[in-house]
Amino acid sequence: MTITTPVPSADTLRGLCEVHLPGDPGYDVARTPWNVAVDQRPAAVAVPRSVDEVVEVVRAAAASGLRVAPQSTGHGAGPLEGADLGDVVVVRLSALTGVTVDPDARTARVVGGTLWQDVIAATSRHGLTAPHGSAPDVAVAGYALSGGLSFYGRTHGLAANSIRAVEVVTADGSLVRADATTNADLFWAVRGGGGNFGVVVAIELDLLPYPDVYAGMLLWDRERAPEVVRAWAQWTREAPDSVTTSLRIMSFPPLPELPPFLSGRDLVVIDGAILEDDERADQLLARLRMYEPEMDTWGRIPAEALLAVHMDPPQPTPVVSDHSVLGVLTDDAIEALLGQVGPGRQSGLLLAELRHLGGAFARPAPHGGALSHLTGSYALFCIAVAPFPEAVAAGREAARRTVRALARWSQPSRVPTFTENREDASSMFDGEAWARLAHLRAHADPTRLFVANHQV
Ligand SMILES: Cc1cc2nc3c(=O)[nH]c(=O)nc-3n(C[C@H](O)[C@H](O)[C@H](O)COP(=O)(O)OP(=O)(O)OC[C@H]3O[C@@H](n4cnc5c(N)ncnc54)[C@H](O)[C@@H]3O)c2cc1C
Repeated sequence: MTITTPVPSADTLRGLCEVHLPGDPGYDVARTPWNVAVDQRPAAVAVPRSVDEVVEVVRAAAASGLRVAPQSTGHGAGPLEGADLGDVVVVRLSALTGVTVDPDARTARVVGGTLWQDVIAATSRHGLTAPHGSAPDVAVAGYALSGGLSFYGRTHGLAANSIRAVEVVTADGSLVRADATTNADLFWAVRGGGGNFGVVVAIELDLLPYPDVYAGMLLWDRERAPEVVRAWAQWTREAPDSVTTSLRIMSFPPLPELPPFLSGRDLVVIDGAILEDDERADQLLARLRMYEPEMDTWGRIPAEALLAVHMDPPQPTPVVSDHSVLGVLTDDAIEALLGQVGPGRQSGLLLAELRHLGGAFARPAPHGGALSHLTGSYALFCIAVAPFPEAVAAGREAARRTVRALARWSQPSRVPTFTENREDASSMFDGEAWARLAHLRAHADPTRLFVANHQV
């Protein structure tokens, strides 16, 4: 005799807030994350417009034997691809947004699903900014709760260390505040463990005192990659912590919506920010400018404009990727990279990126949470565009190939925000932090109600 466990029904959620179940006209749009290559098919998508609605959905889901996956934009939905979500309610926080800035305290209170672009628009009115990432439409929650690498990072560390307090709807359906003195274990756990511990409905962030920043990009044809990558590698080995940059080797198809300097081109691009005065920043950049880039946009810009420097896609995009952390970037490692994505190669990738780590990224924060620093010197991130199902497998293999080619120089750790495949999340934390996270999760969420992209 086979015993089958009935899949709990999500019908009980109807009427609690905007809810889409399979078969409803709005279901397909509601279930689709920012990364449209991820085909997630949950039991329901709930779109709460108030904290009370979040509480009701979490309680009703738990009472019905359903699980809950908090999701703000779905930029980080990759690890859910292929997962059985038949008993999972995606709680989409895109309608629960807002920012309040306290310029005197230099903090901002950011509501659950708010995007970085809205936070920075609000802070910049006060001459302040925050440790946002490269894409304007990433949400603060998924980014900062998973670490968050900004172009301020080698000076100021991971964005998670800027979190002062969170308000969370926990597994028992209560709304709690957690900070350094109240619910301190939960406060420690969410700063790294994020969606494993509840639906975060507000985050209080420390802001940065920069009305403007020296930032921009240098761009060359990919033919110049061998000398430019070597020069950047040497430059980053000596760069002070005030310099946070990325190097990408990129291949764009010819598309009319792209500007001519990108359309149909293979390029090498270095971008980021330098937290120095103009004279010192120019001095530092001189060693890259001597390679005579075709385009040089570096200069002092309003801090808000840093959101556009990396040219991330402005709309939902189908992408697959792979990632590793490199301990060093030796000449041999550069050869291996160029062997995959250098001049003349058809890698199948949109880009292979190296983000420079080290500096404050590498220093444990004194009052940090589960993830307060990163090991390694460079994060390698390889991305392919996958607009149709067959392209998914091919893109994944292309990304994997380049990551594999650099395996000799990589280490077992992972950067959570750059990990878009389902992986053992223990590789994202040090051993002690992982053990404590697992222990806290077992107490805080004994039935494993919450489904995060990176599971503790
Ligand atoms: C174009 C692009 C550019 C990027 N640039 C950077 C960058 O510069 N630096 C960097 O570090 N990362 C970067 N990322 C990665 C990005 O930070 C992660 O994908 C992050 O998880 C996105 O957060 P989200 O909330 O928008 O995504 P979501 O997919 O909505 O969330 C990801 C996970 O975070 C958790 N989560 C989200 N919201 C909540 C909530 N309210 N409560 C509890 N848990 C929640 C959940 O576990 C969820 O599975 C980039 C990604 C893309 C696609």
